Amino acid sequence: MPIRNQVALERPRNQVDLERLVLRARSGIERRWTSWLARGVKTLSYYGGFSASRPLGEGEAVILFYHKVQRRPVGVWGEPVLDVREFERHALFLAREYQPVLLSELVAGLAGRARLPRRALALTFDDGYRNNLYLVAPILARHGIPATVFVTTGLVGTDRWMWAYELEELFSRNPPDQVCRASGDPAILRLGSLGLRPRVLMMACVEYLKELPHASMLGIVERMRASLPVPVNDENRFLSWEEVRELSRQGFEIGAHTENHPILTRLPLAEVERELRACRDTLEEKLGVRPTLFSYPNGATDPGVTELVGRYFEAAVTTQSGICSRASGLLELPRIGAPVPVSELAFELTWNYLRTEVARPVPAP
Ligand SMILES: [Zn+2]
Repeated sequence: MPIRNQVALERPRNQVDLERLVLRARSGIERRWTSWLARGVKTLSYYGGFSASRPLGEGEAVILFYHKVQRRPVGVWGEPVLDVREFERHALFLAREYQPVLLSELVAGLAGRARLPRRALALTFDDGYRNNLYLVAPILARHGIPATVFVTTGLVGTDRWMWAYELEELFSRNPPDQVCRASGDPAILRLGSLGLRPRVLMMACVEYLKELPHASMLGIVERMRASLPVPVNDENRFLSWEEVRELSRQGFEIGAHTENHPILTRLPLAEVERELRACRDTLEEKLGVRPTLFSYPNGATDPGVTELVGRYFEAAVTTQSGICSRASGLLELPRIGAPVPVSELAFELTWNYLRTEVARPVPAP
């Protein structure tokens, strides 16, 4: 079993760098004038036809990742989120510009076992939300786009939340100091005393909790949940097993995303292995097929985790942005996160293509 630095998993909480967490939280949600300008350029380039897809090179392909699609175009803070109308525009654009294939077909192409179509693109959805069946599937069916859903087996059929979305809901419904007190955690109490806007405070808390060992994070979230329970809503509800089987009947490919969605680099390796095995075995038992594809929760991996994943799955996807090629390791395939407006999606794809083109070796004359 690979050796890993356990000290990194157990960093004492009194050494938390609050300033860094707040900066990261702000950069994730606050738009400066430069980002508005960038958005204008992206929109103009899309509607001006500049960001129509570039031809991918031979043996290159794109994997996109999504989580959920909802009916309303705004989130709990009034921020833009991916709704059904915008997702329909994504589907139209992707079906027109790319050759959508299942992730397993893309992997077979990269591995040299099958022909990889030109402009091959695979759509993936992480976590296993119910809206993948009721809102996503009909749109993809209309445009003939196949997709892979990565299921968190321990959350299937439950009325549990993905903890980060639960915190978002908690902070949007309750006075921030009450939420911080409910955590009973000194670092969160200190964050709560900085006078941050509730959304920035929430993001800083999420960033902080993601850095803790999984068990410590769970303990804190559990305390907050016990004091301030919120019922899970439609946007965040997970699929039931019957619904997972229905997706599978409709041609979706079902991949593994662990049993409990821990950040694997924050877990001892024996626990990582347990998460991988439990998820793979449950999927096999419930669907009658052994899954071959895996998605790292939060995209997080390290050499020890990747090696373990390779014992259980044929290929795995990260959230490291980039275009796949035959040189990509099948256990750490890059994926491009889909932004909300279709104009930004088109730009993101073009941008990644240009980055790849610059890095591509010049063929010998
Ligand atoms: Zn996930």
